Amino acid sequence: MSQPTVIPGQMIGILGGGQLGRMMALSARAMGYRIAVLDPGQDNPLSQIADVSIQTAYDDLEGAKRLAEVADVITYEFENVDLRVARQLEAKGLLPQGSALLAVTQDRVNEKKALSQASVKTAPYEVIQSQDELEKAIQTIGYPSVLKTARGGYDGKGQLVLRETSDLEIARSLVDGTTVFVLEQWVPFQKELSIMIARSTQGEIKTFPVVENSHIHNILHQTIAPARISERVKRKVEQVALEISESLNLVGVLGVEMFLGDDDEIYVNELAPRPHNSGHYTIEACETSQFEQHIRAICGWPLGSTEQLKPATMINLLGQHMEAALDAIPYMADSHFHLYGKDVAKQDRKMGHLTVLADTLEEALHRAGQLKIWNQKNMEEMT
Ligand code: AMP
Repeated sequence: MSQPTVIPGQMIGILGGGQLGRMMALSARAMGYRIAVLDPGQDNPLSQIADVSIQTAYDDLEGAKRLAEVADVITYEFENVDLRVARQLEAKGLLPQGSALLAVTQDRVNEKKALSQASVKTAPYEVIQSQDELEKAIQTIGYPSVLKTARGGYDGKGQLVLRETSDLEIARSLVDGTTVFVLEQWVPFQKELSIMIARSTQGEIKTFPVVENSHIHNILHQTIAPARISERVKRKVEQVALEISESLNLVGVLGVEMFLGDDDEIYVNELAPRPHNSGHYTIEACETSQFEQHIRAICGWPLGSTEQLKPATMINLLGQHMEAALDAIPYMADSHFHLYGKDVAKQDRKMGHLTVLADTLEEALHRAGQLKIWNQKNMEEMT
């Protein structure tokens, strides 16, 4: 093993100042690194704890140049990084993750092509730009299906579920020739699963445990770790993640979201070339967190053990959960409470998360339920 390429005391630059950047920075700081952030917002979750804050638009090449001047290595906390910025930083030798993986994950069409090159299954789909293409695609894809914008969608934004012919009318009104969409077949699934995988600049690879996710209104609600799946499915998921990371020349951590279909097959839904919401449980439940692993990977450290120390569940705290969450603090002896420092607790805004650890998964789920944060009222308000 050689020495890390970036050593403690040096500066890590992060594109994006959200909660993922903040949690990356908290790990990096514990390891002795200094942090610079580039984000257009003034008071963002990461700038509150960073050494240097550069407040410019994400696609401002001048801003990126300033970040490059102060940082010894640069990473990002979201995949919609401007590609010109990414290429500029890559050319300076500052972006070990490269720009190619961003170009793939920014666009569902590119992503699906890359997944098929990695011999990984996805839901059957068609690319659509015109109403004609929509009419043709619905003939082959059928109902139910999901129309998704190729670029820019997250947490279910930019998506329309088509259940019957009458939904086609709404789809038609969205397809105006300017935006590229994919029409995806609805996968009947038993569970939604995800896995975090890390690959370092030295080529070392490690996977975290496979986890089980539930979404409410397309926003991640709860992660259950480890997933309640057979050994066969677990191995299959790990294999899929390894194939993807090798085929995409991964550096850093990558989240792979999947469906375990009713047919017991694994269908990859989405890739996130960064730490992921469903990996937050690793902060307390695993020997190395996804955030520390990411820093290790991009700075050329040996990867840490990903062993899970205790069963865990992670539940998101959205704006509408905040009041109940603060009231429940006296009952949080086994819970780890995270707030991201966002100013306004808006509806559906990810404000923080809670991880409950216990000796058994059943106990962790039971204790999370006892906190009564995600009660009927809060859930209904989400609609
Ligand atoms: P996405 O933005 O692609 O991650 O989709 C958000 C959520 O919508 C997923 O986590 C699933 O719960 C659901 N979903 C999206 N696409 C499909 C599909 N093809 N089949 C079944 N469920 C889907």
